[in-house]
Amino acid sequence: MYRCYHSGKFVSFLLADIVILVIFLLGTNVVKAIMPEEKKPDGIFLPVIMYHSVTSPVVGDYHVSPEMLENDLQYLKNHGYQSVTSSQLLDYTQGKGKLPEHPIMITFDDGFYNNLSQALPLLEKYDMCAVVSIVGYYTDVTAERDPHVDTYSYLTWDDVKQLQNSGRVEIGSHTYNMHSNSERAGCSILYGENPEHYQMILRDDLSLLQDQAKKQTGTAPTIFAYPYGFTCRESVPVLKELGFTCTLICLEKPNYITRNSDCLYGLCRYNRSPDLSTEDFFKKALAE
Ligand SMILES: [Zn+2]
Repeated sequence: MYRCYHSGKFVSFLLADIVILVIFLLGTNVVKAIMPEEKKPDGIFLPVIMYHSVTSPVVGDYHVSPEMLENDLQYLKNHGYQSVTSSQLLDYTQGKGKLPEHPIMITFDDGFYNNLSQALPLLEKYDMCAVVSIVGYYTDVTAERDPHVDTYSYLTWDDVKQLQNSGRVEIGSHTYNMHSNSERAGCSILYGENPEHYQMILRDDLSLLQDQAKKQTGTAPTIFAYPYGFTCRESVPVLKELGFTCTLICLEKPNYITRNSDCLYGLCRYNRSPDLSTEDFFKKALAE
């Protein structure tokens, strides 16, 4: 009895000691040294921001006011972020160039006229560059019918040229006429659709904008923004074949740029909705 009592007490003291030791180790670097750390992705952290229309007053989730855009650009400038183009990213992945210490990509989708009238002066003021991804049909047809109204017009080809000639804007493709969510989800493949048939439709559509942009501005886009962020793997060979070296989606996640240029396909973006303050939005979008 005596021996049992003491051996039981010994075991409980031992267990208590082990628990105390584990608690102590959890609070020290010893655990960090012996436990494998969660692996940080390789590559340079690149946040990508997605804007659409810059209007006053703000009329929806895809609009920001000029004041909000200015606050955002000022915040990025104050925090040491420098905007980059897709060609800078491509050069880096091919070992030809460097990226700034804190790179960021600023993008505008749909090709609104206010990207020229409202956003460009602010990009100039804060020494930033951006990608403006246009929908070919909107620029070719819709904009020409009703140009230069800040709240709803699309960029005409003359406006697109002005943006490109500013040296601050890279023109991207947002399809020629597949910016729709009715027949198919954006420009993605339909369920059960023959991949070759789909790729022919996609190639025909994208080529229309590539050819028209080349004719109008002298260059064809090399960056592509998937409408609504709907992607499919069958689209990738077509995009590569047409010369796109970088594609943008709408998943809200950080990107890491490596020396492998395949990392530029499917860059994630944070939608800049007007619901958050500049500080709250960037707390989310600039988190590694
Ligand atoms: Zn769009």
